[in-house]
Amino acid sequence: MFRLGLRRKIFVVTLILISGVVLASGLYLQRQLRTWLEQRIDDELLHHAKIGGKLLEESLADAGDLAGQRARLDELAETLAVDTDTRVTIVDAQGQVVGDSQLNRDRTPNRPDYSSRPEIVDALRSPVGRARRVSTTSSAEMLHVAVAFGEPSPRGAIRVSATLSDVEAAIARLRVLLTIAGALGLILAAASSGLASQLLARRLERLVEQTRARHGHGPTDADLEHAGSVAIGTFGRLTRELDRAVERVGTERDRLDTILQSMQEAVLALDDQNRISLANTAAHRLFSRTSKLAGHALTDVVRVPDLVDLVARTRDEPQSGELTLPGPPIRRVLAHVAPLRAQPGRVLVLHDVSETRRLEQVRRDFVANVSHELRTPVSIIAANAETLLAGALSDEDAAKNFVDAISRNASRLAALIRDLLDLSRIEAGRYPLELRTISLEHPVRRAVEALGEQSAVKKIDLSFACEIEAAARSDSAACEQVAVNLVENAVKYTPAHGHVWVRLVDADDDVRVEIEDDGPGLAPQHRQRVFERFYRVDPGRSREMGGTGLGLSIVKHLVDAMGGQIGFRPSPTGGSVFWFAMPKPPQDDDDTASDSRSSS
Ligand code: ADP
Repeated sequence: MFRLGLRRKIFVVTLILISGVVLASGLYLQRQLRTWLEQRIDDELLHHAKIGGKLLEESLADAGDLAGQRARLDELAETLAVDTDTRVTIVDAQGQVVGDSQLNRDRTPNRPDYSSRPEIVDALRSPVGRARRVSTTSSAEMLHVAVAFGEPSPRGAIRVSATLSDVEAAIARLRVLLTIAGALGLILAAASSGLASQLLARRLERLVEQTRARHGHGPTDADLEHAGSVAIGTFGRLTRELDRAVERVGTERDRLDTILQSMQEAVLALDDQNRISLANTAAHRLFSRTSKLAGHALTDVVRVPDLVDLVARTRDEPQSGELTLPGPPIRRVLAHVAPLRAQPGRVLVLHDVSETRRLEQVRRDFVANVSHELRTPVSIIAANAETLLAGALSDEDAAKNFVDAISRNASRLAALIRDLLDLSRIEAGRYPLELRTISLEHPVRRAVEALGEQSAVKKIDLSFACEIEAAARSDSAACEQVAVNLVENAVKYTPAHGHVWVRLVDADDDVRVEIEDDGPGLAPQHRQRVFERFYRVDPGRSREMGGTGLGLSIVKHLVDAMGGQIGFRPSPTGGSVFWFAMPKPPQDDDDTASDSRSSS
């Protein structure tokens, strides 16, 4: 049903189109043909009239009344008319007919007055006159062209007339041809529209079949009636596919944007003028910008000649380099510039390597420090051993001194190696730590007692106080080692007869162990740095006391590994307060270990 309807529609549309084209072109051609033919007839009539005028001027060279020469003029008119298949009329200066091919043929004795005929009036006034009208005698449409003759003033005019029936005949022939062409066109149109609708119908049928296969039932009458909507459905499906494609592109763009924004590296897209067209969050962070970077010239944002050079150098191949960005804070960055493929411009990626470079420097310093620290005792041992071998062995007193020095430096070397090993084990996470809820009182008390003798030798008053319930999450042995190091330092650096107070205090969520002394204290510039490896306020004095410069560093690493905090504050006595704090256990924690290893 839909096939017939559709086919008829296609046919009607084609019919209307072809008819329209044939009609419009027919009308146009008809007009053009009429104009062209009439122009040709007009030209010919004018040509004949001019020749006739010349002949008249020659044959009427002698003056005289034209009316008196009527017979001659009639004959002349007829001769001209026969030769040109026209009607030729000769009038005198007053417009009276003095010769006419037609009247002569018809033997009409009375000559009409043509003085008011427009073509005659025009010809006698200006040399040429034209008119077209339906002839009263033949009732055919005639074209008249008249030309004046005689010099200097016109003696008369010669008019040549022809019927336009030839024009009408030619146009009628054209109409017939156009009708045949139109009919042929329509037949072709009917055939091609039939073919087209057949193809379309087959496609629609396939669509209907597919619908049936998908929905499990064949097309109903209603389906067929509305099968036209299948075609619309096809367009709908195309639209949906386009929508989906647009959506996919949008999702892809969002995904890329998310990746770009979450990158740690600063990414900047530059146009061919090195103007920033896109910048991610990391770029804004690197250049400490809250306002948009896009739209600014790169040189307005960062004035680093090395970077500008690197960007300028990047043409076809990517370029890389490491450079410093002015602070604050000053940063070392790895810059990578690559040309854009699809459009002119470049992509600049900046990777902040400040922390990596700092760590590398720390490591280099550490290696240099270790070598330096090891070299001194090793060379002392070697020198003393050589001296002994060279003969000092025989001198008992001297030998004792040399062996003494060897022993001291060997101990120092052993202490250094022990501390280095401890440090590397803690850093590598290989130091066995068992974090449990313990009372910090016991390990700290043991540490204080371990240093009792040392403090007594220096006559230092070492006291311990714990008036709180000191339960905290910690490792007992590690805690004891931390406390031993800090109390030992306090005893070591406090002059004889000084005081060292060790106490445990409650500090909100932590239990804090404070080791206060009235020794020399620390100048502000040393307070943070004393926790660094090999940092000593007075290297000579530290070595003299058997210090390795690693004690506080080990302490800090251990406390960090246990999840605690460590710090320094000056004591009101002018000395130091070193402290470390361990977190209290959560309320419902029952993982309590009894650490009652008392020193008593
Ligand atoms: P060392 O083995 O030299 O003692 P540490 O890491 O334990 O190394 O200490 C680093 C530096 O901190 C010491 O060289 C010393 O100058 C300073 N220091 C540590 N504890 C105290 C203290 N209680 N009073 C004064 N200075 C201290």
